Amino acid sequence: MAIRRAVIFLGPPGAGKGTQAKRIARLCGVPHLSTGDMMRDAVSRGTDLGKAVGPIMQRGELVSDDLVMKMIEERLAQPDCAAGCLFDGFPRTLPQAEGLDRILERSGFGEPLVVDLAVGDDKLLRRLTGRRTCSVGGEIYNVYDLPPKVNGICDNDGGKLVQRADDTAEVVKQRLAAYERATKPLTEYYRSRGVLQVVDASVSMDEISRALGEIVKCAEGRNGHL
Ligand code: ADP
Repeated sequence: MAIRRAVIFLGPPGAGKGTQAKRIARLCGVPHLSTGDMMRDAVSRGTDLGKAVGPIMQRGELVSDDLVMKMIEERLAQPDCAAGCLFDGFPRTLPQAEGLDRILERSGFGEPLVVDLAVGDDKLLRRLTGRRTCSVGGEIYNVYDLPPKVNGICDNDGGKLVQRADDTAEVVKQRLAAYERATKPLTEYYRSRGVLQVVDASVSMDEISRALGEIVKCAEGRNGHL
């Protein structure tokens, strides 16, 4: 099944990729493909994949490219990806970006739309350590910047809000280091091809959503589809 257009959200952990990806994917009617969510789901279901990646994620290190690419290939073969999809947390290394390029080419589709959510280190810690996720629907909150109406409870479905195991200060440091080393070079990889857009992700979640909405709308206008 072919992919019509891929949108990629780049940016450090804590840039708000997950929150924004959910909103923008809903806006565009395409699936939101978060490799982090997919692997956390495998961990909680106790599958072989989950057993393999759980300890790596706990340490804030990157999972191997082979495992990630296999997971992505299987997911992209699902019919709901035929009209496009939004990647969040993928690609995260140069080999993953090259692997995705091959898949997109094989599917007969053009360049992805890549958006870098740029934000300084000072904001990241606050966002990561303040993050809480709904244990039912996955909605993301932040105790400082985007609190739920009732402490610890999801506004949407009343689910209990939980903190991610890798959002502790020590693991966050590892994740930021992995980003600097392996993922940041991807901005140059896409910039040199002229497909990179940069959005200031240090502002409020709603302002970031507006900026992303504009970019995605322009892209739709140019291509007639995402
Ligand atoms: P964040 O971007 O906030 O760090 P994610 O949910 O995207 O969170 O990822 C959580 C963890 O899952 C990462 O620290 C890493 O261990 C693993 N992971 C997610 N996506 C990838 C990927 N594309 N390649 C390698 N590891 C990944």
